[in-house]
Amino acid sequence: MRASPARPLPGASSLNFESLGLKAALLRAVREQRYDTPTPVQLEAIPAILGGEDILAAAQTGTGKTAGFTLPILQRLTATLSPRSRFRPVRALILVPTRELALQVSESVRTYGAHVPIRSTTIYGGVGMSPQLNALGAGCDIVVATPGRLLDHLGRKSIDLSQVEILVLDEADRMLDMGFIHDIKRVLAHLPPQRQNLLFSATFSDAIRALADRLLNRPRLIEVARRNSPAEKVEQIVYRVDRGRKTDLLAELIHRGNWKQVLVFTRTKHGASKLAQKLERARVTATAIHGNKSQAARTRALSSFKQGKVRVLVATDIASRGLDIDGLPHVVNFELPHVAEDYVHRIGRTGRAGASGEAVSLVCVDETRLLREIEKLLTRRLPARELAGFEPDPKARPQPIVQRTGRGASRARPNPMGYASPIHGSGSRRRRSAGNVRRVD
Ligand code: AMP
Repeated sequence: MRASPARPLPGASSLNFESLGLKAALLRAVREQRYDTPTPVQLEAIPAILGGEDILAAAQTGTGKTAGFTLPILQRLTATLSPRSRFRPVRALILVPTRELALQVSESVRTYGAHVPIRSTTIYGGVGMSPQLNALGAGCDIVVATPGRLLDHLGRKSIDLSQVEILVLDEADRMLDMGFIHDIKRVLAHLPPQRQNLLFSATFSDAIRALADRLLNRPRLIEVARRNSPAEKVEQIVYRVDRGRKTDLLAELIHRGNWKQVLVFTRTKHGASKLAQKLERARVTATAIHGNKSQAARTRALSSFKQGKVRVLVATDIASRGLDIDGLPHVVNFELPHVAEDYVHRIGRTGRAGASGEAVSLVCVDETRLLREIEKLLTRRLPARELAGFEPDPKARPQPIVQRTGRGASRARPNPMGYASPIHGSGSRRRRSAGNVRRVD
């Protein structure tokens, strides 16, 4: 969790946490985080969840949504905790799409739950089973899990979800994009029908609406900060460059600007590793984070980046999802994403919590169409520049963008649009670009 004084998130209200009905032990944890005012999503979600309502929230990472559901869950579980019972059943299940997000949410549960006697554990793949089996065996009130590993545990009966009172689906859109719908349905079959359900999603595709219809009981709708209006404080710049000169240009920009912490996006896992190696050769310390790496390697890469031991973290879209890096000043799109919305997700890594940030896109002639799609989504042109010595060849011909095969490469995203449309939106934008977009990671 953040160590520095918290800046008010955009739109923070003058209402304070005390007025939301949270108990002293939780207010103390909030104070320790030095949050002055609740964010809009917290203002709406905390009282509703405390009141036992189901929630359908359009809230992206960076809005304070994690505290928005964690604090009231901690309060509800503490209120009915039976101190004498030796057995601690799982009473809240938080499902998330990625291991990184699982770790982050768990950290939030620990931070906000520092002064309440609630036990939690994290269940995710890519690591050994034993510590998770031990933690589950010891009993815990809250489980934060990715669907695949949770099903492994359900299969071997090392977890019992029959006492779950509260279910959270965090970043539900991403879970569907990653093909988790069947896993989610299988998990749901293990839950008791009577429970509180909280669904958080940045986008509202038809698939999410269908899931919400099935899952939620007269939910309270909460909508904050639309995803297609990136943080105003993010300065967005396009550098036009030849495809073969992007690495040199990136190294030059980093050296010239003396950039200390840069998150760079590539389209493929292979591209991420290759770019990190090339940057190292250009005397820029760099590491890559993507789905082919072991969990230990991903955690190591992320922590050296957060601690400033490496200047550049190269990531694919899926690997970067939900990353919360305080005060990240620079995001670079080494390659533009195939799906315009991913651009908004990417640049949302900077300029968070009211900080200013810079998002640079290196665009070659092959990517003109992708840039147009992004500008259409943003409803504005992005300022384009050329750096002296790196001017693109005006005679260069576009080449098709080669997509590597790999897990997820052949899967069309079910509905890549959505966050342009509010919960009750017309869906026209969704229809417009719901093409056969393929994702590569
Ligand atoms: P999230 O949207 O849950 O990923 O939270 C984004 C960031 O906002 C995290 O670093 C939180 O520590 C921070 N945060 C959450 N609530 C507040 C608040 N009320 N005031 C300031 N920062 C906050």
